[in-house]
Amino acid sequence: MASLIQGATLMHEHMHLDLSRIKKDPDTCLDCTQETLEELRKLRKQGVTRILDVTNTGMGRDHDLLDWLEQESGIRILHSTGWYKDPFIPDGWSEKSPEELADVMIREIRSGKAVVIGEIGTSKNRWTDNERRLFEAAVLAHKATGAPVYTHTTMSTLALEQAQYLTGQGVEPDKIVIGHMDLAQDMDRIRKVLKTGVNIGFDTIGKSDYLPDEKRVQMLLELEAEGLIDHVVLSMDITRKSQLQAFGGKGYPWLADHFIPSLLEAGLQPDTIRQMLIRTPDRILGEQT
Ligand SMILES: [Zn+2]
Repeated sequence: MASLIQGATLMHEHMHLDLSRIKKDPDTCLDCTQETLEELRKLRKQGVTRILDVTNTGMGRDHDLLDWLEQESGIRILHSTGWYKDPFIPDGWSEKSPEELADVMIREIRSGKAVVIGEIGTSKNRWTDNERRLFEAAVLAHKATGAPVYTHTTMSTLALEQAQYLTGQGVEPDKIVIGHMDLAQDMDRIRKVLKTGVNIGFDTIGKSDYLPDEKRVQMLLELEAEGLIDHVVLSMDITRKSQLQAFGGKGYPWLADHFIPSLLEAGLQPDTIRQMLIRTPDRILGEQT
């Protein structure tokens, strides 16, 4: 497998995350440094050379820890800036104007602390005022820096609205990734979103409680057949301790160890896998150095 995906980027991960303040569930505090490092070392052997960590302010982002994991694992880790969604926006930030929020993002990007705006999101079938200000700020920050924007959709809802809003405001379509499009089996919505020119994330691979991986495989086969696959990226979106291998979960290595073999077995072309894991991420984030 290593040769097929050598140079791969996982486009939507969290390596230190704490949503337990709101979710009131200690499982949603992902702070297992050593266990995470062990998995990253496995990824490196699989051929993963870069991970986009989309944890931001209020989600438990830890720049120093990410730098340490990068150093110890040999995998380049890219950091993100921004705020997540309601009700995870920390006190003091939800009152800020889009301009004030954008200033923080721009500063973090220009200083090299972050390279991507994300993950910024909407609620389930609902786009709150706070979330609207976040998206306005993301547009301003993108225009000032050119940084890619990675969004969160809740169960894929409002995906088309996000894509239309961002492209309508002048964000470069190919610098947009609409996240979590593999949580609902809605090919019609996926086609409409892709028609706006943006990229989409099949970034919750392995989360079978929401959608079994076999359905994800089917959807990707359809997208390949329709010539739409070059705007799809892959990731696992690990967010809980129990999703790590050390605690009985599938872990980050699941993607290369289990999901890719399923795709190949179903008839997806090996080159399509390289497109989703290597060429499209390189196009969005820039070539790896
Ligand atoms: Zn998300």
